[in-house]
Amino acid sequence: MSAASAFACRRCGQCCRGEGGIVADERDQQRLCAYLGAARETFLAAYTVERSGKVFLTVGADGNCVFFEAGCGVHPARPDICRAWPFFRGNLIDAVSFALSKDSCPGIEQGASHAAFARQGAAYLQARGLVKSSQAGAAEALKLSPAMLAAMLKADPDDA
Ligand code: SF4
Ligand code: SF4
Repeated sequence: MSAASAFACRRCGQCCRGEGGIVADERDQQRLCAYLGAARETFLAAYTVERSGKVFLTVGADGNCVFFEAGCGVHPARPDICRAWPFFRGNLIDAVSFALSKDSCPGIEQGASHAAFARQGAAYLQARGLVKSSQAGAAEALKLSPAMLAAMLKADPDDA
């Protein structure tokens, strides 16, 4: 299994459903406000909720993200955490978490090794500027140290 084929989004929308764990950090909020033509206060009041110092997108009565409408209604401006899934820190560093994610995200190749997935994910996040350091309000799932990133980028994609 090559690193290039560990994941390809099927656009099923499954990751836009449930719980309300979509963090919108400062950069996300600026991008979404610009896309929607909304003032920050209006955006925050209409589409978000604050918990433990972080801003999250709300979830509609249908259980989907407030911006989900048969697909992402703000796709060009979607938050970084949406751009990054399924390459979250937990899935990149923990083989068990990665294996469980195969059940919830059909875009992850069933036969992909964890090493291949981690290597592809680290390169994907780095190339798109999606890695967060310790920025306040940033999604914990995107916080990776330079050492963690370097180790994943060196991983042998043929390792099981
Ligand atoms: S669950 Fe996976 S395959 Fe489905 S839309 Fe989300 S990232 Fe793509
Ligand atoms: S912002 Fe878009 S991609 Fe992110 S959870 Fe909402 S609908 Fe899905």
